[in-house]
Amino acid sequence: MTFSDIGVNQELNHALKFNKISKPTDIQIQAIPAILTTTNDLVAVAQSGTGKTAAFSLPILQTIDPKSNQIQALVLVPTRELGQQVAREFFLFSKFMSRVFAEAVYGGTPIDDQIEKLKRPTHVVVATPGRLIDLLNRKALSLDHLKYLILDEADEMISMGFKSEIDEILKSCKPEVRKLLFTATLAGDVRKLVNEYLSDQVTEIRINEKELVNQNIENQYIINQQGLKLDTLKSLLLQRPDQRGILFCRTKIAAKRLSKQLAGFTVATDAIHGNLNQEAREKVLRGFKNRRINLLVATDIAARGIDVQDLDYVIHYRLPENKEQYTHRSGRTARAGKSGMSVSFINQEGLKEIKNLEDKLNIQFTPLEINVITDNQIYPDITIYMNMGTSQEFDNDRLKEFLVEEAGLDASDIKNVVVEEQRSHFDVPEKYQVQIFANLNGFKRSHRNIRLSLSNRNAKRDL
Ligand code: ADP
Ligand code: MG
Repeated sequence: MTFSDIGVNQELNHALKFNKISKPTDIQIQAIPAILTTTNDLVAVAQSGTGKTAAFSLPILQTIDPKSNQIQALVLVPTRELGQQVAREFFLFSKFMSRVFAEAVYGGTPIDDQIEKLKRPTHVVVATPGRLIDLLNRKALSLDHLKYLILDEADEMISMGFKSEIDEILKSCKPEVRKLLFTATLAGDVRKLVNEYLSDQVTEIRINEKELVNQNIENQYIINQQGLKLDTLKSLLLQRPDQRGILFCRTKIAAKRLSKQLAGFTVATDAIHGNLNQEAREKVLRGFKNRRINLLVATDIAARGIDVQDLDYVIHYRLPENKEQYTHRSGRTARAGKSGMSVSFINQEGLKEIKNLEDKLNIQFTPLEINVITDNQIYPDITIYMNMGTSQEFDNDRLKEFLVEEAGLDASDIKNVVVEEQRSHFDVPEKYQVQIFANLNGFKRSHRNIRLSLSNRNAKRDL
């Protein structure tokens, strides 16, 4: 089966080849003809990584009228990253067509710039729900000529709490606008959306309904021993020096802390979580995409919409709250027919949860044996000097807090803290040296760059 077979025109075929995409995926085989040859609304359910974006962007590009400068398609997405990605696919696929302009608009960046951009001819708007409503209220765009409204990753939008915004947008659209809904699951509220807003003439497509989880993913678990979780993780990463992956934490604090604990370790790491501003997020993602960073430590929310090619593994440093979350997390590996592994860190009680996931998702887990290189030897303490003191508003407690917060240490590992006016020093086990230097290098406080040095005794030994 080729893209021509399912009705995709020559210009688009050309662009697909240019992007090294040759065979349509199952969801594309079913959704593209349904969009091109009928006028029905559409519900398409397929797991993540199956190519849903192209399943709507190709037929939309093919049916849009580039000569009209009106907005003809609106794509709602849960996150700004996904919005940028979807707009990018529209851009890539329209390479050999007459000019079709897609604009992504999302929160977290100045709205005025987006209002300016929307003044230019725009055919497709890709938007997060909240920002779209803002823009509509400011009359920055008109949906009067809309032909298509696409709800992409509808389940994610609902689980992120966008239900009322989606209601508002759907209500403000003319009834004749064609609605296409794409989702990985059709649970409760997504089903409600379908019943409430899609026409009775709806085509429903489901791919691999029972095989919720991508079958190319190898699901594994590691039972970590009390107190050895970080060592186990490091040992696992050491076995995969050239591979890239995402590690999931449940909270922002855990993500930030773990990335600090791994700083200076052989894998380059960075954390991505909701507290980062847009610029910092993009910097991290760029580093990851161009392989300066091998491991992304992320929270579930921050990881939504991240599409990086060729991910080798996903690590659940803590199991997610529910099975849908497991599917979403694991979907980050084994994209587009490639294989990948999804490793869960659990303790003995976690076996129950693994069994539960096996039953609910119809998958098999295997235990992953790894040789844990333990770090339980006794390390001598070293003394680290720092060029900051009471003049920079440090005292003993603040210095400890600072080291816990910024260098990822445990308070109990920091001893003999002495803070003077312009400098301070403290003792820590030697094994933290690299971690501390890696985290604090380049740090600024009260306009002063942090400088760290080891005591003379240590320095000599280092030589
Ligand atoms: P989903 O929305 O279902 O999670 P995406 O649309 O994000 O999946 O696609 C996942 C990846 O697969 C993207 O990198 C995309 O470029 C790629 N892809 C899409 N369609 C194909 C195809 N027919 N062949 C190969 N790769 C594809
Ligand atoms: Mg998608």
